[in-house]
Amino acid sequence: MKTIGLIGGMSWESTVTYYQVINQMVAKSLGGLHSAKTLLYSVDFQEIEHCQANGEWDKSALILIDAAKRLQIAGADFIVICTNTMHKVADQIQAAITIPIIHIADVTAKKLIQQGIKTVALLGTKYTMEQDFYKSKLIDQDLTVLIPDQEDRNVVNQIIYDELCKGIIKPASKQAYLTIVDKLVERGAQGVILGCTEIGLLISQSDRNIPFFDTALIHAEAAAMLAISN
Ligand code: GLU
Repeated sequence: MKTIGLIGGMSWESTVTYYQVINQMVAKSLGGLHSAKTLLYSVDFQEIEHCQANGEWDKSALILIDAAKRLQIAGADFIVICTNTMHKVADQIQAAITIPIIHIADVTAKKLIQQGIKTVALLGTKYTMEQDFYKSKLIDQDLTVLIPDQEDRNVVNQIIYDELCKGIIKPASKQAYLTIVDKLVERGAQGVILGCTEIGLLISQSDRNIPFFDTALIHAEAAAMLAISN
């Protein structure tokens, strides 16, 4: 079995999901008492969020490069960055290590294509929804990406940082998210990417018929499968 190197803590609320799902997948696949060989480097999210808010992406990259190098030295076979947003600096991290990074947008795009989705809605932080680093990975796969309008993007973003990353789950916020999902479906979305690893803590597939692509689950499953593949 390969050893998974997780860069977590962004936020730790969703790192819990990764750890749980990875171990569940390995146990389900291998049976018995099997569990995943995992190394976790969990950052202080306040430092990362400060860099994001100030546009100091190179500084945040250095923090994550340090984490990735430590995981490599400790014996990780590959790296999983447990957040969509910080994939903005994934190329910089990859350039500093020799083990591969499993890119969250690549494994998500693969899932979308497998399910025949052509037009997909993307929910995430304002960085993920508005900037190119994430959407381009989807567009390169011939997917059409819809994002909420400005006002709704602010709502989605604010709920992520003020509530979900602090483990706060409010029924009113769930309703706000589902209303935004409904608007995106009206605009032609055939699926919705939960493109922030905490969104699955607020809404889930049982809330709507349209397929949800929860990036934390997809990414964690991909990591587990790679760990146990030959
Ligand atoms: N976990 C979130 C994501 O998937 C947001 C936190 C962050 O900014 O890294 O984008």
